[in-house]
Amino acid sequence: MQDDVRLIDLYHARHRLHGHIVRTALVPSPSLSHRCGGAVHLKLECRQLTGSFKLRGAANALLQLPAEARARGVIGVSTGNYGRALAYAAHRLGVRAVICMSRLVPSNKVEAIRALGADGRIVGASQGVAELEVERLVREEGLVRLPPFDHADVIAGQGTAGLEILEELPAVDTVLVPLSGGGLLAGVALGMKSASPTIRVVGVTMERGCAMHASLRAGHPVQVEEVPSLADSLGGGIGPDNRYTFRMVRELVDDTVLVSEDEIAAAIRHVYEQEQLVVEGAGAVGVAALLAGRVRAGATTAVLLSGANIDMALHRRIVCGGSA
Ligand SMILES: *Cc1c(COP(=O)(O)O)cnc(C)c1O
Repeated sequence: MQDDVRLIDLYHARHRLHGHIVRTALVPSPSLSHRCGGAVHLKLECRQLTGSFKLRGAANALLQLPAEARARGVIGVSTGNYGRALAYAAHRLGVRAVICMSRLVPSNKVEAIRALGADGRIVGASQGVAELEVERLVREEGLVRLPPFDHADVIAGQGTAGLEILEELPAVDTVLVPLSGGGLLAGVALGMKSASPTIRVVGVTMERGCAMHASLRAGHPVQVEEVPSLADSLGGGIGPDNRYTFRMVRELVDDTVLVSEDEIAAAIRHVYEQEQLVVEGAGAVGVAALLAGRVRAGATTAVLLSGANIDMALHRRIVCGGSA
């Protein structure tokens, strides 16, 4: 089973990432603890460099590429945050980066990627089309592909966020993690379940178009239609040839729950007003699930706030009361 990601890979990633990422804070949330009747803590990956946890996996994968591969340059498909993280890590290491995105990626994210010196390309109306462009450029220009979630080094990198939660909060019994392709959830679940199988790990995603949720239901990877959502970072499929995340999520994760667009908006408002935090839609789904009663909190719950990169005009509209 050399194809597996192991706990030791998370520790190696942690060691390797030192100096490349920041250790984000884990803070108690009085407002959510009060509402849920247990101790609720927030893991602030919205304060990670580049504005999301994605830097953990991107940097971990990039740092392990041999010099020959780095010289060729890297390419990835992204809903925005992975591209920004990969662009940032590549820029720091002097590696060329090409990021392929669909038209659904918000312009603030595209601009951030280009500002880091990466070649940000908009191709088509879905992640699937952007994926085809990646394949073409790998073939024709010899770029090295680093996928956004279904890659052992990416999963191990994302899992380091889970190690940090465990170290600071060993009493944790419930962990809520945003879910799209499942790299974050697989990595965090591996850490949690290795520490104790009794820690409940729940993936949270949006009602609109979650491929992993539909795939778990079907028992194999399925495609779903991509539609706009406040949780734009959760869009995209899991790939028909999914190698790691589908299996890991199926084996390690206790449950997946869905939240609506209104619930996501309410959560963005809640963390802004109660915790003075700016989070994007995808980053707010765990809080949304708690507030809407879609998941029960434990005695000690950690909620991972995965990203901050929301268009600020949209954020203003949401906190002023509208749903979008
Ligand atoms: C990518 C992303 C996710 C989902 O991560 P996966 O590893 O694809 O499941 C969640 N939140 C934010 C902010 C993201 O950028």
